[in-house]
Amino acid sequence: MSLAEVEATWRVDGETPLPECTYDPELHTGPRLTIETTEERAAREAVAREICATCPARLFCDVYALETRPTSGIWAGRTPAEVAEHAAELEDLEVA
Ligand code: SF4
Repeated sequence: MSLAEVEATWRVDGETPLPECTYDPELHTGPRLTIETTEERAAREAVAREICATCPARLFCDVYALETRPTSGIWAGRTPAEVAEHAAELEDLEVA
């Protein structure tokens, strides 16, 4: 799939809507001013994953995360470790 085709999946009725995480960024990045517990983080990330599942930019975000390998946050429903794992799986498929 070309980048243009990936970008096209983001459009709805000719418009490019805002990604869902722009409405509550700390849901995906974690709180800026407080430290969350392990349980709080797991709960927050679970909700962030649900939001990503409905995001019109998800495919674009997934490709971007695979290219940039983020070190924090939730990207297209994945933690950075999961992004790296997904990238390795894709690399294995390309080799096979
Ligand atoms: S899929 Fe990406 S752009 Fe969309 S809400 Fe999730 S992190 Fe944000």
